[in-house]
Amino acid sequence: MLRVRGSASRAQLAVATELSRATISEITGDLRRAGLIVRSKGAGSSRRAGRIPELLTLNPDFGVIVGVEFSHTRVTVIATDATHRIIGSQTRDHDREEPWPQRLATAIRFIDALVPSHAPLIAIGFGVPGAIAGRADVLAGVARQFIDRYSVPVRSENNARLAGLAEFSWGAGQDVNDLIYVRLSEGVGGLLILDDEPRLGTTGAAGEFGHVCLDPNGPVCRCTNRGCLEAYVGLRTVFSRAGAESVGALRDALDRDEPRARAVVADAGARIGLVLANACSVLDVSSVVLGGPFIQVGDHLLRTVRQSIMRHAHGGGADGLRIRLAELGNLDGALGGVALVLRDHTIPLAIPATKRSEEARTA
Ligand SMILES: [Zn+2]
Repeated sequence: MLRVRGSASRAQLAVATELSRATISEITGDLRRAGLIVRSKGAGSSRRAGRIPELLTLNPDFGVIVGVEFSHTRVTVIATDATHRIIGSQTRDHDREEPWPQRLATAIRFIDALVPSHAPLIAIGFGVPGAIAGRADVLAGVARQFIDRYSVPVRSENNARLAGLAEFSWGAGQDVNDLIYVRLSEGVGGLLILDDEPRLGTTGAAGEFGHVCLDPNGPVCRCTNRGCLEAYVGLRTVFSRAGAESVGALRDALDRDEPRARAVVADAGARIGLVLANACSVLDVSSVVLGGPFIQVGDHLLRTVRQSIMRHAHGGGADGLRIRLAELGNLDGALGGVALVLRDHTIPLAIPATKRSEEARTA
């Protein structure tokens, strides 16, 4: 519970685990004496007259968790401790054609700079763009380099999913237990959370909202099918239709009320909303979170998406539905790498360094 939540009071732990307060007190007492959990230095220390309950966290001295996002044009690395406290982050933009060995070298330079020499590295979670199924070679190559250098467990996922996982853990979705997250960028990906768990599907391809078909006779998509959502609302398509070169330029055009920009964004919002409405009709989730660089164009997009969902969702699907923008900005993908590690209970957070390298070899 503390791995996933970061911190919690005994009462919160009792509710979440459905154990009695007495049992929780006993367990947390044992864990504290063993040095595995500690009183949070945050809210717990400012309690007055015992009215604010003491918060517990894992021991921050366990070491450092690293999240890495490789996007098409950027490497981002973030380091946290086991209590979810951010130690630092670094990011570098690069050309689209930058070869993988250089991207990896950048990530390794950042990791070496961010992990303090006295603190052990616990594990690395990283993401790459695109569907995981088609990228097994890249994933294995990157993981091998990290394992060879650091001898720690390494996990990987698609960037959009990692961003969704971060929003669910710390951002716009942290107070709900089911949501649809869609990341609007050059590609359109997403993550589905039901009953507090990410749903990856039978083949691990769930949440590909960008490849929902809107028109079987529509434009050819990157995936070779026709009429996918991404073929209409992928950022490069949007830019070329709107005659804008960047999200900033598109936002400026919207601010100036330019009809062409407004029409293009309204059309994109309507299509995104249609796909989300259909998903909501099927899944009846409580929340939709929109993320990715496209959302930086401002309210016009959110408004048109919302209108479209309300218009198309069936009955209960849109009743009380919460539609929000992502909150974590450009660190979302790298933060998701940390969340991936924290949620993976096969990765021990507190084990001797020698055992840790054995675990890395078997991973
Ligand atoms: Zn497609």
